[in-house]
Amino acid sequence: MLFGVAGVPHSSKGRSTVDGVRAIKELGLDAMEVQFVRGVRMGEKKAKEVGMVAKKLGVILTVHAPYYINLNSPERDKFDASVKRLYDSARIGSFFDAKGVVFHPGYYLKSSKQRAYERVKKGVEITLEKLEEDGIEAKLRPETTGKPTQFGELEELLRLSKEFLERGYDVRPCIDFAHIHARYRRFNSYGEFVEIIERVEEEIGRESVESMHIHLSGIDYGMKGEREHLNLEESDMKWRELLKALKDCNADGILICESPNLEEDARMLKDAWKSI
Ligand SMILES: [Zn+2]
Repeated sequence: MLFGVAGVPHSSKGRSTVDGVRAIKELGLDAMEVQFVRGVRMGEKKAKEVGMVAKKLGVILTVHAPYYINLNSPERDKFDASVKRLYDSARIGSFFDAKGVVFHPGYYLKSSKQRAYERVKKGVEITLEKLEEDGIEAKLRPETTGKPTQFGELEELLRLSKEFLERGYDVRPCIDFAHIHARYRRFNSYGEFVEIIERVEEEIGRESVESMHIHLSGIDYGMKGEREHLNLEESDMKWRELLKALKDCNADGILICESPNLEEDARMLKDAWKSI
């Protein structure tokens, strides 16, 4: 399992992506998720430079697409803009060999779950076809979301992934264990973590368990799901049980820490993983 953080580590001397990659290496971590969350503001040239530095240092990169994506928007311009943001994230990420492009698919708004599913699927399909046309390979990772108003239940994402995997596209869920816990106010025990991993294996195969894209942090939540991310030790997240479950299921892949303290929790997770 590779361990990384969401964005440039706090201890990084500079705030650029390249500085962040160097800091990851110095921290003894393995990966960084490049944050395009407020827009894809990196050009092709910069992305290639980031890729070269990361390759040289052996740091693995992933991408988090903009938050302003709603593939279930009934408004055509918003839908199109969402597709474009996802496409741009994947295109720029391809220049630094992103091992995953994470995105929040959208909101249910007034749609039924089935209607939302169909629209999201259409959006993902248009994005994938355009990427393919342009010769860009991308691993799209729709994320399990933390609020009941957001599209992104594990079952929805497994269904979506399965449909695209069958067509030869690399679409698999980004499993955010904190979001799943916050959304349902359960899924915070060894047995439930194993249940999640087993569902992934049943629906989209062993390979998906061996190449997981995981998000983890502590989390505060209420009846409406996610409130805010917390540091692991200041939350109720049973992260040791989660690591044990992942290890016992022989899971592998990339774990991105999204705690406010970023690298502190990422280091703690990596150290704990090694000692299990
Ligand atoms: Zn996310």
